[in-house]
This record gives sequence, structure tokens and C-alpha cells, in this order.
Amino acid sequence: MADLMDVSVLRGVGDLAVEQRPVPSPALGEVLIRVGSVGVCGSDVHYFRHGRIGDYVVRQPLVLGHEGGGTIVAVGEGVDSSRLGQRVAMEPGVPDRICRECKAGRYNLCPNVRFFATPPIDGCFAEFVTLAADFAHPVPDSISDDGAGLIEPLSVGVWACGKVGVGPGSRVLISGAGPIGLMNAQVARALGATEIIVSDVAPTRLEAATRFGATVLVDAREPDAIGPQLEVDAFIDCSGAPPAVRQGITAVRPAGRVALVGMGADELSLPVSLIQNRELTVTGTFRYANTYPTAIALAAAGRVDLDGMVTGHFGLDDVESALSADKDPANLKVIVEPGRR
Ligand SMILES: [Zn+2]
Repeated sequence: MADLMDVSVLRGVGDLAVEQRPVPSPALGEVLIRVGSVGVCGSDVHYFRHGRIGDYVVRQPLVLGHEGGGTIVAVGEGVDSSRLGQRVAMEPGVPDRICRECKAGRYNLCPNVRFFATPPIDGCFAEFVTLAADFAHPVPDSISDDGAGLIEPLSVGVWACGKVGVGPGSRVLISGAGPIGLMNAQVARALGATEIIVSDVAPTRLEAATRFGATVLVDAREPDAIGPQLEVDAFIDCSGAPPAVRQGITAVRPAGRVALVGMGADELSLPVSLIQNRELTVTGTFRYANTYPTAIALAAAGRVDLDGMVTGHFGLDDVESALSADKDPANLKVIVEPGRR
């Protein structure tokens, strides 16, 4: 194997370059993965354009990318060599495993988690990465490398749908028809939800939603389109838009649940008396925990369509184009292929 590899590095706001770095060696309990596909996430785009997301600030060169799929090409001490050649989905956040949250099984809330492409931890827009062996989840050949990478955003949907108790016959409202909204719609469908109402302000995005589980499309710009008449069991906000959050909450029936997934305004006003009178449960979500096996099973069984969400592929030398693809609303998910030449 070569000693050096190509890596796409964010050197500053809007400043990307391909650099050569040593291929890392897998440490105790780690595997070395040849990266096949990496989905581009809104957070990558945000770091590229603004150099920060809230308190996470890019202060040194950072490798972006955290939705990775690939193949194990070397194993560190303590890892069974039978894993060589295994195709995997990379769960990008490795927790410390010893803190209170980890002990309680809530490892997504670990304060010491090392998460790909979150400063100062490098991501996987690279030919090779190392990862804790148990966070490299095997995938069957029925899942492509693109699909293996997109297990990550699918996991966000698995987690959010679980938080709000989506199940057989559920009526669900999802605001925001971007990739995360559509992942949630797909998971809701797979879990047996029968009414999946998806709202967005962009007609192009809404059209795509019908292919990914939406049973009802709502133009969020229409006044009163979203309200108590919808009587949904669950509302998953994937827009982060304050009006969508407030309106969506009014659509939830008594004892229903609300998950705030989308990131937007840090603060907003909520209809508190309505939440009280209907005894609604409102929760945030932060990434996910223990969702990869479920997400992989859903994809392997064909209950969700990941490849169908992919609208473009780019090489490491064209990451800037990949990070700009969101300017065309017809793009859902674009993929960086570090081995592409
Ligand atoms: Zn921890």
C-alpha cells in the first residue's frame, strides 16, 4: 500500500486544497478503511462557507466529510483479521465509552465524542481513514458504497422517528423536504406510518418527497395549510425555520410528540399553553445512538431507497463543486468519491 494519500483539506473559509498526507496506521482496536463514498452534508457546506457552526469553529486545517462508506484494508491490534476486505458503513462519532452518558447508553451525548469533520477532528474526504472497529459496521453487498455512506443521515431519521414513537398507522408531519426530511419520511414509511405529510417552501423539493414516502405534500407558504386540522401523532421538524416549528406544533393531537431536528434559529417562541393543554412532548435530537444496525437492516431489505437520493458524484479535486451543489434545489445528495480519478 502507498505511504501517502490524497486528502481534501479546508484551509480557511472557502479555501479547499488537495494535500498529500501519510496513510494512517490503525491503532489498537481500529481498522483502516479505503473510503469509497462520502455523502455531502449541510454541515460540511456550512463549515466551507462560514468556518463555523455555532460554538464549533474551524481554527486549523480541517478535513470535511462524515457520511462515509468503504472497505477495510488493514486492522490494528486486537481486531480480527477476518474483517479484512469487509465493506462497511462508518459511524462517524466515537465516544469515550466511560462517561456518565456513555454508561447510560446515550453515547451520542458523550461530551468527549470525537466526531468526523467537527473541529478539530478530521473527517473522511480522504483516500483512507482509521476508525474504531466497532464503529465500522458491516454492510451486505446489496448496499452500495454510496448507500453505506448514507446510512449516516438515515440514522438521523431512525433516531428522530424513534424519539416521537412513529409506528404502524401513525400520522406524521415532517417539515422540510431536504435530505434529512426525506430520510425521516422514508423511515416513517418503513415503520408503518400511513399518513406522511411533508411540507416545504420549495416546490422542487416537494416533488421529490413523493418518491421517498410522502403521502401528502403541503406548500408551507400557504397560510393555514398546517394547523390543528391535520391532527398528527408526531411532528418532526427538519427545517429549523421558526414559523414551521410553531405551525407544526399546532398540528399535533393531544399527547402527541414533537422532535426538533433541523438547525436554524437558536431561539424561538413556542405556543406554551397549547403544549401544556395537549400534554405534548417536545424533544431535541442530537445525532443518534445505536441506530446503525437498524438503518443498515432497513436499507438491506429495500425498505428505504438511498441510491435514489444521489444526484451527483465528485472526486477529491472537485470537492468545491460538491459543496456548492446545494445551490441547485434539484440536488438532493451529492457524493464525494476519494478514489475517483
Ligand atoms: Zn462518553
